[in-house]
Amino acid sequence: MASDVQEFEVVVIGAGPGGYTAAIRLAQRGLNVALIEQEALGGTCLNWGCIPSKALIYAGEQVHRLKTSEAMGLHVSGVSLDLAQLQTWKQTIVNRLKGGVKQLLAKHKVTVITGQARFLDSKRLEVFGPQQNHQIQASRAVVIATGSVPATISSLPLNGKTIVDARDVLNWQALPERLTIVGGGVIGLEMACMLKNLGVAHLQILEGTQTLLPGFDPDLQAFIAQQLKHAGILIETGVNVQTAQVMSDSEVKIIAITSTGETQHYDANAVLVATGRKPNSGALGLKAIGVALDARGAITIDAAGQTNVAGVYAIGDVTGGPMLAHRASQMALATCGHINQEPGSAFAPVAIPSAVFCSPEVASVGLSEPDAVKQFGTEQVKTGVFPLVALGRAHAMRPDLTPPPGFVKIVSHGPTDRLLGVHIAGEHMAELLGEATLALEAGLTVQDVSLTVHAHPTLSEGLMEAAEAVHRQAIHYYSA
Ligand code: FAD
Repeated sequence: MASDVQEFEVVVIGAGPGGYTAAIRLAQRGLNVALIEQEALGGTCLNWGCIPSKALIYAGEQVHRLKTSEAMGLHVSGVSLDLAQLQTWKQTIVNRLKGGVKQLLAKHKVTVITGQARFLDSKRLEVFGPQQNHQIQASRAVVIATGSVPATISSLPLNGKTIVDARDVLNWQALPERLTIVGGGVIGLEMACMLKNLGVAHLQILEGTQTLLPGFDPDLQAFIAQQLKHAGILIETGVNVQTAQVMSDSEVKIIAITSTGETQHYDANAVLVATGRKPNSGALGLKAIGVALDARGAITIDAAGQTNVAGVYAIGDVTGGPMLAHRASQMALATCGHINQEPGSAFAPVAIPSAVFCSPEVASVGLSEPDAVKQFGTEQVKTGVFPLVALGRAHAMRPDLTPPPGFVKIVSHGPTDRLLGVHIAGEHMAELLGEATLALEAGLTVQDVSLTVHAHPTLSEGLMEAAEAVHRQAIHYYSA
């Protein structure tokens, strides 16, 4: 039974990085805000995405480092991994951060309501709570921040055991010996690197298109394919997975058509379905209130996050790609500005950075070389590449003395010297995205980057040297 209608100025649905950021910013502006969440504060990112995956990726890299530090005199024998303890460690991190979000919401006097929200009309919502249902009214605006859900394939129905998604994997208490990953995008590759380092012996990635990381600069695609192969991960591209037959609790057979048109069987203990994510817009009752969606179910918005229905806004993954936490939270700030009638509030970044936390990492912001050529023509596009093998800091962090793999590549507009894109590969190299994104956002030139004093010895010197390489004058690397 519904209790009395509670009234707020703004109601936010979903407490992921988009929703909780919006709730806090609106409260900072003095508005009376409710935040409705059906599952856990922090959303996908904090509970089943960015944070737990990066914690486990870091753990896997620690294991790898311990096993490869003989050359620097670190003799470690009998390295073993207690997966249950690792899960406790990971969950402690997640809970600590979730506690932080809860505290921030409380300090800003945001009313947090637990339950699943559904529109009654454009200003009223029914919230189905664990104990009771509520009706909530928004006098000024409703912000939809309901995120995304895995885009599964109907022929690969998840069962939590042999056919799983990333959320299942992040909670695994035991590792399979043989795992097949369907999907060579960001999540598939991060999971592959993490699990390889944590001890999954046989890993295979099946990707439907011709390359891993579709959409990334081809040099990054080639780099990551080579690194994964080097780590012993099998990769097949152009493979169209048809179905999976569950043979037992720990055996599954995948049937696929290969790039040559043959039917192929792959046996594994489990299959991870990592075929992307889709907007989570289905259960909100949007059709009834007339909110426009695109063919994939993404809510259509303008730069301020407004839908076609007055007073209804949407931010983050539910509006389509790129599905990234930092995009969701920046969209939130622009939308809050608009709700608060601050002039010029719009989400219109020059570029959105993207990091893939493989081992080693790859990261990208701005135009890839082919996209730049498409836009400006071959004659106008200049590139510079600086390999990490020429960077002192990268060597100083290399326990096994092998040459550090990776590079920084800059794509620029020759006639104006303006930066168009930065593509980065190597251990810890995703940290360079901050500077690269700021440079793009500020419209800097390649020379601006090369003339900026970079501290020595840091990985960021790689960016400065790549800028010099665009002008064929890198000091620590010779290229004709
Ligand atoms: P979400 O974080 O998905 O939050 C939506 C919230 O809405 C959820 O808590 C959900 O329970 C709630 N909700 C949904 N419907 C309702 C309803 N009707 N009523 C009430 N509540 C509702 N991004 C990065 O930038 N970096 C990374 O390293 C990264 N790693 C990732 C790793 C994995 C394995 C995954 C799956 C994702 C990763 N992402 C990463 C993507 C990132 O998690 C999302 O882009 C981000 O969480 C989107 O934020 P959001 O606020 O739009 O939605």
